[in-house]
Amino acid sequence: MSYFRCWSARNLLDLHGDGRLSAAASERIDAHLEACAACREAAGEFDALKGLLRSAKAPPAPRGLEAAILKALREHAAPAPAWDWRAALRGARLGPAQAAALAGLLLLAGSHFFGVPSQRAPGAGMSAPGGRR
Ligand SMILES: [Zn+2]
Repeated sequence: MSYFRCWSARNLLDLHGDGRLSAAASERIDAHLEACAACREAAGEFDALKGLLRSAKAPPAPRGLEAAILKALREHAAPAPAWDWRAALRGARLGPAQAAALAGLLLLAGSHFFGVPSQRAPGAGMSAPGGRR
């Protein structure tokens, strides 16, 4: 059989197997399958795969799964209570290392935003109020 006829036939094997081809097209495929062993084998594999898929079943969902999902959805859909930062701070206690780290961070932030005058190069940064150069 010619390569083109085999290619055409194999493109139509799924429709042929499902009975969705016209009578004339189906007869042409049947004639080709009688004459071509390679396409006959491909059609057999296709039919076997189709049977396998048809017999496969999805496993049943565990009992109570649907109810648990619906319950969780209802619980998460409820509005969250407002966060009380005063209550959160009331119980907060800093350890010595945390306090030292916080103080260091505050010093760093302060020097970044307000600058350390002795480390500034002359003429850099803000100019003197009302000054002209
Ligand atoms: Zn063929």
